[in-house]
Amino acid sequence: MAMTASHRAVLIRSAKGICAADGLPSNAGRATRVHALIEAFGLCSKVRVVEAAAATDAELTEFHSEEYIECLLHPEATGSESDSDSDNADDDDRLRRFGLLYDCPVFEGMEGHVRMAAGGTLAAAACLVDGSARVAMHWEGGRHHGQRSRAAGFCYVNDAVLGILKLQARFGKVLYIDLDLHHGDGVQDAFVYSNKVTTLSIHHYDRGFYPNSGGAADEGKGHGAGHSINATLRRGASDAVFKRVFGSVASAAVEALEPGAVVVQCGCDGLAGDPHKIFNLTGQAFVDAVQAVLAWKLPTLLLGGGGYSNANAARCWTRLTAVAAGEQDIAASRDIPEHAYLNDYAPAFDMAIEATLAGDANTDESIEATISAEAMSEASQEQTSVFNYNDDDMELTQESASEGEHTLLRGDRHAVFEVGALPPAARQLLASSDEVSCGVSGVARFAFVATASTCVVWSFAAGSSAAVHRLAMPDAGKGAGAPAVALVAGVGAGDVGVVAVGGLGHVRYWDRVVFGLGGASQFHSAALTLGPTDRCEQIVEASAGLLVVATRNGALYRLALLTAQGAAGLDARALSRTAGSRGGVLSRMASLLGGASGEGGPDDQLVSVARGGRTEIRHSREVYALTRSRLAKWVVSSAHPERLAYSVDLHHALSASVAQALRSDAELHFHDVAAAGSDVCVLVSAGLNLAVVTLRAAHVASEPSVAGLTLLRYAAPHPLPQSGAGRPRLVVPAGGPVMFVAFDQTVVAAALPAPGSSFEEAVKLRYGDCVLAATAIDDQQAESCILLACRRAGILRMTATARQVPDSGMVDADTRVGRPQQEQLEQAVFFGSDAARNPLAFAITSDAPGLDAHLQAAALRVSHAILDGSSRFVADRLDIGALLRERLRRAHAVTQALADNGLTGKLSPAARAQLCSNVEKLAAAQSLWDLQNAAWARTGPAMQLLANLAAAFLETSGQQQHQSKDPLRLFFRLHCAAIGDLLVLMHRRLPALIRALAVSPSGVKDGQVVSYEASRIAAAVLQPALAYRFQHARLYAVGDPAPERWTEHPAIADMLVDRLEASYSLCRDLSAHHCQALYERITATALPGDERPNDHALAIFDDAVSVSHVSLSPDGDDDDAAAAALRPLANAVDDDPYTSPLALLRETIDQIGPLANLCFRVFVDRIARLAAASSATAHDLAQRYDALRPRFLLCLVPLGRAPVAFRLAEEYRDLPSLVTLVFVADPANAATHLRRYVERYSKDFADTLLAFYERRAAWASLLHTQDDKFDAWLKDYIDLRTAEDPHGPLSKFGWIHDVKVADFSAAAARLVRAGLDAEEVDDAQTLLSLSKLAFIAYESQEPELDDTMAEARSRLDNAMGLCQVQAGLLHYFTALLGPTDSNTDDRKAAYHVALYTTTPELRHAHPALYIVFSELVRRIRSRRTLPVEDLIDVLTIPDNLYTLDIAAAADADDQDVFSNDTVRDRFSLAVDILSCASVRLPEQTRESALRSIWRRVFLSDNWPEIHRNTTGNVPDSVLRSELLNTTLYRVLHSCWAIRKLSHPDWYLLPADSFSSSDLDYLVSTRLMPQFGPESANDSSAQWKPLSTTTALALTNDYADEDRHLQAAIDCGLDGYYSEILRIVAEQASTPCLDDDEVLASDGDESDDQMDTD
Ligand SMILES: [Zn+2]
Repeated sequence: MAMTASHRAVLIRSAKGICAADGLPSNAGRATRVHALIEAFGLCSKVRVVEAAAATDAELTEFHSEEYIECLLHPEATGSESDSDSDNADDDDRLRRFGLLYDCPVFEGMEGHVRMAAGGTLAAAACLVDGSARVAMHWEGGRHHGQRSRAAGFCYVNDAVLGILKLQARFGKVLYIDLDLHHGDGVQDAFVYSNKVTTLSIHHYDRGFYPNSGGAADEGKGHGAGHSINATLRRGASDAVFKRVFGSVASAAVEALEPGAVVVQCGCDGLAGDPHKIFNLTGQAFVDAVQAVLAWKLPTLLLGGGGYSNANAARCWTRLTAVAAGEQDIAASRDIPEHAYLNDYAPAFDMAIEATLAGDANTDESIEATISAEAMSEASQEQTSVFNYNDDDMELTQESASEGEHTLLRGDRHAVFEVGALPPAARQLLASSDEVSCGVSGVARFAFVATASTCVVWSFAAGSSAAVHRLAMPDAGKGAGAPAVALVAGVGAGDVGVVAVGGLGHVRYWDRVVFGLGGASQFHSAALTLGPTDRCEQIVEASAGLLVVATRNGALYRLALLTAQGAAGLDARALSRTAGSRGGVLSRMASLLGGASGEGGPDDQLVSVARGGRTEIRHSREVYALTRSRLAKWVVSSAHPERLAYSVDLHHALSASVAQALRSDAELHFHDVAAAGSDVCVLVSAGLNLAVVTLRAAHVASEPSVAGLTLLRYAAPHPLPQSGAGRPRLVVPAGGPVMFVAFDQTVVAAALPAPGSSFEEAVKLRYGDCVLAATAIDDQQAESCILLACRRAGILRMTATARQVPDSGMVDADTRVGRPQQEQLEQAVFFGSDAARNPLAFAITSDAPGLDAHLQAAALRVSHAILDGSSRFVADRLDIGALLRERLRRAHAVTQALADNGLTGKLSPAARAQLCSNVEKLAAAQSLWDLQNAAWARTGPAMQLLANLAAAFLETSGQQQHQSKDPLRLFFRLHCAAIGDLLVLMHRRLPALIRALAVSPSGVKDGQVVSYEASRIAAAVLQPALAYRFQHARLYAVGDPAPERWTEHPAIADMLVDRLEASYSLCRDLSAHHCQALYERITATALPGDERPNDHALAIFDDAVSVSHVSLSPDGDDDDAAAAALRPLANAVDDDPYTSPLALLRETIDQIGPLANLCFRVFVDRIARLAAASSATAHDLAQRYDALRPRFLLCLVPLGRAPVAFRLAEEYRDLPSLVTLVFVADPANAATHLRRYVERYSKDFADTLLAFYERRAAWASLLHTQDDKFDAWLKDYIDLRTAEDPHGPLSKFGWIHDVKVADFSAAAARLVRAGLDAEEVDDAQTLLSLSKLAFIAYESQEPELDDTMAEARSRLDNAMGLCQVQAGLLHYFTALLGPTDSNTDDRKAAYHVALYTTTPELRHAHPALYIVFSELVRRIRSRRTLPVEDLIDVLTIPDNLYTLDIAAAADADDQDVFSNDTVRDRFSLAVDILSCASVRLPEQTRESALRSIWRRVFLSDNWPEIHRNTTGNVPDSVLRSELLNTTLYRVLHSCWAIRKLSHPDWYLLPADSFSSSDLDYLVSTRLMPQFGPESANDSSAQWKPLSTTTALALTNDYADEDRHLQAAIDCGLDGYYSEILRIVAEQASTPCLDDDEVLASDGDESDDQMDTD
């Protein structure tokens, strides 16, 4: 019911809009024609016409930036804060910044165009939004290249984006389909991060093809990944190909997105007949596509776009208008209705857009690749590889080629152009028979191929139709071979007549082939009467309508094609009517040629006939006939009888003079004849020598005199045949002065003898090709010109000029001698480099002695000229990107051409390196240019970085005169050779620039962006350069040592190191606060020159990895932790790194891997070269490199780029870093990694790993591996290191191997031996290992191993003597405490030693342990080398662990031996330390520590025994003396003076107050500290968590402590405690005179107290 309103289509159309669109220079007048045609078909009544209003500024800035719109609408205005001295240069800068120079110039009416283009699309979108239409059309829209802040590709405003935004607001998701020949880059860029808008573009994609984007790998970014779809087609795409690809990708896109609306950009520059000539589509492709879209029944917006044939655009969009209006499609055959622009549709005046004959480069494979998503990225990689290119854009550069021609070769004096291919029908015919004739007509631009039965005729004129005409030949099937065929000119433009004479003499004549009304079957016929053995062989057209037929036996026939009226064409009836009668039309000249009736001997056999000049007799022509021995001249006339002018014996006339000149005794052969003005030229061979003899026509008849003799340098490959297909052809264009000799595969151009013009150039076809026909084109003036028909190459045009070419300023003798090489090289480089496409073969020779040096000089000259932009072969052009690409390709081709000819080896290594470096620089320049183009699309301070650098470079290099021009373009145009200098310059200027930016309002952010951009520039320059070098190392064969390269400049290495540092600090600045903390700790503890990556650093890395994975992984959205991590960056609204910190962070992180790679490569290269030169600096550089590399590699891990770090470490075979990475990046799978690397790098890696273990004394790790091969290496390693240094640390480690093979006795024996040497060597390591062994035994979960280990330990204890152990322990501690900066890991180790070596047995054996500990603790305290909590544990826990057991055993001896004084003073010391540190400690920690101390103090006394001793009637003095003997008393007493601690009363509470939650807290904070926000700023708090076993043991101890405390309280401890307090209070006035060592250091303590107060 809503049919009428909602299904009606809307067409945006207004006089104002049309007028505004017509003003666009690239599409002038198009809109008028489009709408006129739409109206002419009456479609305006089938749609609702809506007049759009101009878009407002606000509407435009929905997408475009305000400053751009401001500039666009007021291009002449100066900047807002206009300086008084702003001049034209500033204006230019402003326009350039917004893309309003070059291809998008400011034009009259630009504002109107912009406003109406946008307004129209918005009005169309509005009709869809309000539901008043389902389809809306705006053919003046579709400006899809427009960028947010920049005009591009004739697009000043991106109305498509504006329309999509409007539709998106109403319909949510929008599918944008771009049918334009060019990639819809502006629209894609606008929505590249969006998953609400899918952009699908079907376009031509190739290196150098505008806009150089839209490869299949372009798939969208961020959330938009997968929402940019690019289907690429190759040249010549047909309707079928287009439909197939469209059908596949469009339906997939609409299914995937489920859009609410569709926008189709119907740019029709892919139509056949568009000046682009890329695709070969007809209107049907667009109709099919739009019909498919309409079938989705979604609100649809149809826009225009490209399309540079106004008539075709009108045809196409008129059909689309009809389809969209729901009308019948307008058939291609419909005539154009009468209307104002009817004449634009000539000549056919119908709706058809005919596909051309152009070949379709799309193959099934390429189409499949485009369609299938998997193959897409592969295909794009292939396409984007640097040297996969084709020469399409060459057409644009070869200005002198005619339309549709393609330059294949260009020399100073000759050139070859590709005119057209042979049509498939012709190729088939050629392949079907050996006997073919072929011809080409230079005037009519038609060619034919004929076999005995069929002749195929086609036009190769530019723009002609693709039609191929088949003609049935006379005498077919009679075994007479191919007929003689002639193309007859003068029939009318665009048409040709064909005469065919069958071998038996039957003649057929088609007066018109193309426009023949009756078709191919309508011809006129006649017959010649031949001799019985004769055959017709050749036809030559003497003049219009007058032909001469020559037979094999040398007979000639005249054939006249008469016209009825003289103008309207030839009257073929005249031919048949007069044949044989009245002697006029068809007459025979055979008898006149000497041999009677065509039955002559072998010498009279025909070689060739040629047309000569006009004669003095009216309507007559000369025709020369050459037999094997004679030359005859005829005068043929349409009005007079034929006349033989002369017939001479050439052998007789020439042998003396010519044979002498040819210096050959071989017999002379005559191959072809041609006329040159009044002279006649004969091609002569003697053996392999060739010459062209010019005979003075006037004298031939009497005494043939040689007027000129051209000896050809070209030597025939074999004696040439005198007839048949292999016969050479001599072609002399009218007037010379150049002649061409077409051999089978080679065409030689040589100057006719004349003063001052002597040259000879040979053009060779590629192998397998051959010349089928050659004909002169006489209408050229400056150059001689011929057309060639070749079997494979098709129709070629070759030009030559005999003028002398000036020596282009090259004066020195060397240069001149090397000139041939240079020319050959240039030709090979510029025209032969694409072997697959160029039908010509290029060769460079260096045969002549002494020419190698010239070859090298020539190669360098050519390469340098390409690099610095002075090569005359590289056409200068506006598009710098295309210019650089072409130069790059050419420079590469220099070496490729040498290599193809096997000549690379003739160049010196330095020269080869130089050639390589030239290409590298061009690759770098091209990449940098692309980067800068990408950057220009954005706004921000970094945009100008490169331009400023270029300006600075030009200034410093004295190019100030160019100041007012665009320095960037100037740099890329002329100074690519200095691209390395640009990096160095950037390196020098960057700090100042960033400093300058820092004072601006958004300084920090701007500085970050500039720094990021600088890294991009560095990578963009060096990456492609090094990639090129790597990829083509073999081509250049630069061996070792390589000559110095430009990338090795020390400043470049410095720059890269700087960039890496900058990227790291950028990451730190940008990441969330915990990332920052992480980063700081990593840089502080693990990185700078760290010789010993340690447990602590490893633990940090572990944390870092897990954290960074959360915070930096892009796909972590669904993770709560990730969301929290990302919160600090929540202000990031989009993923543009210029505006979003998160995006900048990601991009920066992504930069680091490539930068590190470049940095390493530069270092490695330079070190290798310096080392090869035995330079002293090699060592320094290597040291620097070795310090940098692990640091940069390890930093990648916390940034979530561990795989990159692994890859780099593997690539540079950095085994030490690899080992560290294994433990740092993936500790969970360390064993797997290690096994893999041991496998790959074998013993090298094993040794590195063992050295790593050795450095970290981490031998215990080895106990968990089980690998025979590795164990053998371990043994080797230990043996080797022991042999190197018999008393070195490794001499002690043999035991580890024994332990691994479970030979504990042997291990013990080794340890004993080591222990015996303890006095002589530093045995700290041994002792540490011992303790670790004990630790392992302690920790082991396997009972049997536990037993064995325990046994081993006790044996060791016995054997070694405890005194030695104690002494060693002291020694060790002393060593540890020596330097104040000894690292935390060692402190932790000391803690473990203290914890696990202070067994009761040790104390038994050495009562002086007290002294050791006192000394130790005093030092620790004074230097605060252990965290206070740990110190307290060191002092108190061992006693808990063991004295409780001792107390339980009630072993009195132990009590005696274990001096109470020792214990008491240690507690006092602990309290003392705590009191000093208490201010620094968090409340809860301090309370917990105090509780531990006091409870341990209570428990150190044997309360049950005191209770026993004082129970009953015991005098007070006994109780008092008993209490004075307790640890509790001593500690309270010693602490009394300090009085800093809270009273211990609180800690003497019932056991249940020490609740389980307290325990949990204790364990979690003290034993298993976690990395958490509150501890993030306290670097001392990050311990590696204790093992579960240890933590459990300690937890149990706390529980035991609690139990015993309860027992003590039950014994009346509180009572004794009150009594002790009373005693202490009594003594309070009495100073403590205890001269204990510890307390003697009062001065230190008071200092500490003052500190803490
Ligand atoms: Zn286009």
